[in-house]
Amino acid sequence: MRYMRRLALVLSVILILSITVFAEQPADRYDQIFDATQDGGKLTARFLKLTTRSDDKSGDSTILTSPDGKVMVIDTGNPSTFLDIDNALKALGITRIDYLVASHPHVDHIGSMAQLIRAYEVGAVYTSEVEYPTSHYRNYMDALAEKGTPHITLAEGDTFMFGDDVLVEVLHPASGIEYYEGYPDGSTQFINNLSLLIKLTYKDSSFLFAGDLYTNAEREIAAKYGERLRSGVLKVPHHGAGTSSSKPFREAVGAEVAVMMSDAIEELRIYRNYSKAGSRTLITSIDGAVLVATTGDGEYTVLSQFDRVSDFLD
Ligand SMILES: [Zn+2]
Repeated sequence: MRYMRRLALVLSVILILSITVFAEQPADRYDQIFDATQDGGKLTARFLKLTTRSDDKSGDSTILTSPDGKVMVIDTGNPSTFLDIDNALKALGITRIDYLVASHPHVDHIGSMAQLIRAYEVGAVYTSEVEYPTSHYRNYMDALAEKGTPHITLAEGDTFMFGDDVLVEVLHPASGIEYYEGYPDGSTQFINNLSLLIKLTYKDSSFLFAGDLYTNAEREIAAKYGERLRSGVLKVPHHGAGTSSSKPFREAVGAEVAVMMSDAIEELRIYRNYSKAGSRTLITSIDGAVLVATTGDGEYTVLSQFDRVSDFLD
């Protein structure tokens, strides 16, 4: 009897301990986010959580699928994040990237371009006209030449279709880059302000990818386009940093969902500006990978890899 009681006690302690352990284990929806079986008929965007394995910041990378199953990748993180992008593509069962887009040629956006071009079948590479004489840039230009991959340069006013149903509009920068004397010395802001601004529209739904635009370029763009910037989902410019996300731009876009890809909270003020304006605001360093999907009805389902464990951001 005493033995049984002791056994019961031991078992209940084990039970309590295991419940505690399970309760403390945060949910990880990686497999659910990178399960492509529900993607048919939808425009999807998967904002990757990249992990830098070097001194560079990890950067941006988003995998999109069109309702008819075409694949677009916008930006490719720094070179050490190739593993994350490769794993995500593999989990989705993707072997061909139909549209490989580089918003601008900084290393945290083009870092894995060469590796992707060499490892995957790529339909075409889409960039702005801006050229940038760095080893990373030359490396992917070499990969393009080796593989004979078409290279399409985009500028304001260009449009193309992503599959049969999604319209892609290039809103910025204008054709004809004017390089200053001494370029590329001190060109960080110059290059960031030449980021491709791309709007994807599927019936009543839309996504806006803003690269690393700074406030001065945003303000000009907001003044020029106004309502045309309105988009359901925004890839927040420059990783959510305080260099970007000016009020006129945020208000013109009016995003329901705003996603920041960064290694940390760049600036809490920027996060709160979106959040207070009613945008569901996600940060990949906190929320993990983010899947946003829409059937084109102007509604978006959002799935994050992790749950927030506290509300300290709000
Ligand atoms: Zn960047």
